[in-house]
Amino acid sequence: MSTLSGKTALITGASSGIGLATANMLTEKGVRVIGCARRKEALDQAMQALPGESLAATLDVADTQSVNMLLSRLPEDWREIDILINNAGSDVGGRQRFDQGRLQDWLGTIETNVSGLMQVSALLLPGMLDRGDGHIVNIGSTQGLTGVAGCAAYAASKHAVHGFSETLRQEYAGKGIRVSEVLPGMVRTEFAATRFSSEERGRTFYDDYGQSLEADDIARCIVFALEQPPHAVVSQIVMVPDHA
Ligand code: NAP
Repeated sequence: MSTLSGKTALITGASSGIGLATANMLTEKGVRVIGCARRKEALDQAMQALPGESLAATLDVADTQSVNMLLSRLPEDWREIDILINNAGSDVGGRQRFDQGRLQDWLGTIETNVSGLMQVSALLLPGMLDRGDGHIVNIGSTQGLTGVAGCAAYAASKHAVHGFSETLRQEYAGKGIRVSEVLPGMVRTEFAATRFSSEERGRTFYDDYGQSLEADDIARCIVFALEQPPHAVVSQIVMVPDHA
């Protein structure tokens, strides 16, 4: 039996990709999963198909009101959240030179990937601190370690996630709250389709790239970080595809 069994995890961006794969793996291990995302129908369907106990909660991480109402919208016995997976993220309008893209898209990427992640963390951290127990896993990116032309806002957002994760881990060290960051390279998900607002372009983007990771590969990294004993903190896991 997993050490995670019986815990409650909240996963942002659980309607597809890495978030959904993680929800699947965690419910299999007996974790009660609260899946959050904006697309209600996709989220409801995804949560209903999970092998274990789950709940769907519509949430826009970039919307302060939506985040602030989140806990009060959950049934009372789901409000003590042990694990937060800060996974929601996007790069809408990305893969364009900075001056050629739309400023409002760049700012939207920062709002979702940085402000959103901070807002959800701020909501759940007080409960974790009161209980002296919690684990936050932030989904960064290899673009949090380097830059890629065409991705200025996205790389900036993931550098921020990296700095935020490193700092939180130090701030809560010894207080029962562990902070881990998982930094994936290319993963084949709905991410590219959302970036280009086109399923077809999303598909050809991954086809042209060649070998990518799968969402399950990253879910395994997240579960590995979560399953370590209390004295061991996985600070970062970087996983990249075997791509020439
Ligand atoms: P994905 O399949 O597009 O999933 C993104 C998830 O985030 C969806 O469930 C989406 O759901 C949700 N989301 C987006 N904006 C949101 C918002 N404002 N509020 C709430 N939920 C929101 O892509 P993915 O690859 O699994 O991405 C997951 C994370 O991995 C992201 O942080 C991404 O930056 C990171 N990552 C991905 C790759 C890659 O190559 N795919 C590489 C490195 C890191 P709704 O649209 O229903 O809200």
